[in-house]
Amino acid sequence: TRHMPAQVHLFPCLKDNYGVLLHDPQSGATAAIDAPEAAAVEAALKATGWKLTDILVTHHHADHTGGIEELKAKYKCRVVAPAKEAAKIPGVDETVAQGDSVSVGKLAGTVLDTPGHTLGHITYWFPQDHLAFVGDTMFSIGCGRVIEGTPEMMWNSLKKLRDLPNETLVYCGHEYTAANIRFALSIDQENPVLDARAAQVEQLLEEGEPTIPVTIGDEKLANPFLRADVPDLAVDIGMAGKPAAEVFAEIRGRKDRF
Ligand code: ZN
Ligand code: FE
Repeated sequence: TRHMPAQVHLFPCLKDNYGVLLHDPQSGATAAIDAPEAAAVEAALKATGWKLTDILVTHHHADHTGGIEELKAKYKCRVVAPAKEAAKIPGVDETVAQGDSVSVGKLAGTVLDTPGHTLGHITYWFPQDHLAFVGDTMFSIGCGRVIEGTPEMMWNSLKKLRDLPNETLVYCGHEYTAANIRFALSIDQENPVLDARAAQVEQLLEEGEPTIPVTIGDEKLANPFLRADVPDLAVDIGMAGKPAAEVFAEIRGRKDRF
């Protein structure tokens, strides 16, 4: 039978988080990608008319898991979470890691281990629908802070995301794009693609629109954290010829202090 495309509903919540509902129109199944807060997820369910069947958790931080218990009690939904940090997440029914399959109704997803922000952080990739839910691993023109892992670990995770097909739509956990662009422009001053993105993002934010999703193809050309192995960028920050993981660590360090 023909694949019915996934439907995605993005909504802001908490201070600067994004919640996402992923819906399979064929079966009616609906997953929340992370559960920052129950009330915002419920409002999104009400707005769409969808019924919550699953919660797919990317990592253990409270701003991604705070709504799980309340939602599970109310909707009896299945909670899928990264195996390496399941002990830190409430209500887990199923644990997953690299290569595991996760389905939402008829939508077929694959788990990618993307550690660095946290040690067990995972990404949910739905190749047929060209969707990737990356949590706090990657942001539009940015990446997550390296809180539990090492810069090299994070760089490898970002390369794994960069290797996804260009048309992949990336949904991340926060609206940080404006600040990320200010930083990116400070280290990558001669990148017309980044300049174009800056103009586009300014317009979106002026209109009160989210800057998410982004595509892997666009991010490859403008996100400095995906470009640590581009020789010109290393030259620009005074690290010509250095290994990409070291260049990445320097860029991440500068962003932390920016
Ligand atoms: Zn986080
Ligand atoms: Fe977060």
